[in-house]
Amino acid sequence: MRLKCKICKKSIVGRADKIFCSVKCKNYYHVNLRNATDIETLEIDSILHRNRSILLEIIGKNGTQKKVPRIVLEKKKFRFKYLTHFHVNSQGKTFHYNYDLAWMEFSDDEILIVRKR
Ligand SMILES: [Zn+2]
Repeated sequence: MRLKCKICKKSIVGRADKIFCSVKCKNYYHVNLRNATDIETLEIDSILHRNRSILLEIIGKNGTQKKVPRIVLEKKKFRFKYLTHFHVNSQGKTFHYNYDLAWMEFSDDEILIVRKR
């Protein structure tokens, strides 16, 4: 079986596991793959970035934790559903991460914001 380049369809010479005929075709593929991802992730990324700015503004540049009424975040249009990852601690409390910052529902109307290092 003769392999053809994934991009230009030219026959590939060399190792059997090669996918591209040249560095040029390989780069073309990866640049396009990255661009496609950049386009599709832009909207959620900007929500996450905006959320982080809100948390950062509240906790401060060097703050390690701060408890605020939930309404403070709501007024700034914080999007609670968007997070980068989460962690449930030994007390069963969920830390909602936004990159290096996290928030936890402390009570019905309070949110604890923490900086994780
Ligand atoms: Zn090619």
